[in-house]
Amino acid sequence: MILVLLTHDRGALDESSLQGLTYARRLGEEIHAVSVGAEIAELGEYGVVVQHVVEHEALDDYSPSAWGEALAQLIVLHSPTAVMSTGTERGNEVMAHVGAITGLPMVANCVAIETSGDVWQISRTRWGGSLLEDATLDAPIKLVTITEHAHEAVPAETPSEARVETFTPELSEADLVTKVVDRVVTADGVTLATAPVVVSGGRGVGSPEGFAPLEELAELLGGVVGCSRVVTNNGWRPHSDQVGQTGTVIAPELYVACGISGAIQHWVGMMASKTILAINTDAEAPMVTKADYAIVGDLGPVVPAIVEEIKNRRGI
Ligand SMILES: Cc1cc2nc3c(=O)[nH]c(=O)nc-3n(C[C@H](O)[C@H](O)[C@H](O)COP(=O)(O)OP(=O)(O)OC[C@H]3O[C@@H](n4cnc5c(N)ncnc54)[C@H](O)[C@@H]3O)c2cc1C
Repeated sequence: MILVLLTHDRGALDESSLQGLTYARRLGEEIHAVSVGAEIAELGEYGVVVQHVVEHEALDDYSPSAWGEALAQLIVLHSPTAVMSTGTERGNEVMAHVGAITGLPMVANCVAIETSGDVWQISRTRWGGSLLEDATLDAPIKLVTITEHAHEAVPAETPSEARVETFTPELSEADLVTKVVDRVVTADGVTLATAPVVVSGGRGVGSPEGFAPLEELAELLGGVVGCSRVVTNNGWRPHSDQVGQTGTVIAPELYVACGISGAIQHWVGMMASKTILAINTDAEAPMVTKADYAIVGDLGPVVPAIVEEIKNRRGI
């Protein structure tokens, strides 16, 4: 039997969880899903035989350590062959907790798994998808996550009943050290992850105040401001604005990279953008050479000039 962790936000299923369920079915074992703090409907369509709904008064919102502890207790109860999740931020985070609690090795972001022996042969993505690694997994219970979007979510040929079983874990204060304490929603509901336009700034912006023209440009284009890790490290912008491997992975219609060199860890977070415009003083910067369009120049005068031109054309 394979336990598949579903990730959701207050009951709204992360659709990529269905990719994990689809991949788990390929391994030819009975599929049990685990949903913490919420029951998810219609899982039978994806071949789920049992849905373990984890209930606890402290689990009304996301808590990676408590979700991990609950899964670890389900492992003891049911002795699955493997525990899987899709390699989303939450999937990888919770599974890493499961690994730490159980002492089992956890392999993240797998794209292919060969299970024909006790030792699994695995191919997995590293460095934000920029390279593939071959790995072996030798453990009594396998903990793996499946790379997000590497496999399509496909309903099972024969749907199942998806019996619901509730489970109440024993949780201590220590299990709840990481939990959601606040949620900030922007006035118009546009987030970095969903905005059609992202105007992003890097070290070349020079200061927190230097972001004001980028804010103005983003607003004119109906987008939001993003940034590189140098910017968050310097404390110029919050981490929630960071684009990249250790920030948010985005795919907007337009990405404007102002004073960002295009290091691989940044690139993998925005390379799926439909159109990329680089503004940079260095014509050889990777962001400039890879972009669809580039302005080689100082963003200080260039960004306000773009803002001015848009305003002129719109008669603002
Ligand atoms: C494990 C790991 C994870 C990481 N994760 C991330 C991540 O998620 N996101 C991320 O961004 N980085 C990440 N990094 C850091 C990454 O390697 C780079 O250091 C970082 O992206 C560089 O940021 P930057 O482009 O702003 O700065 P720099 O590389 O210093 O580039 C600044 C650019 O600005 C240009 N410039 C300077 N002045 C001007 C001006 N006046 N006008 C126009 N252009 C100008 C320069 O020519 C240069 O190209 C990670 C690194 C590691 C090791």
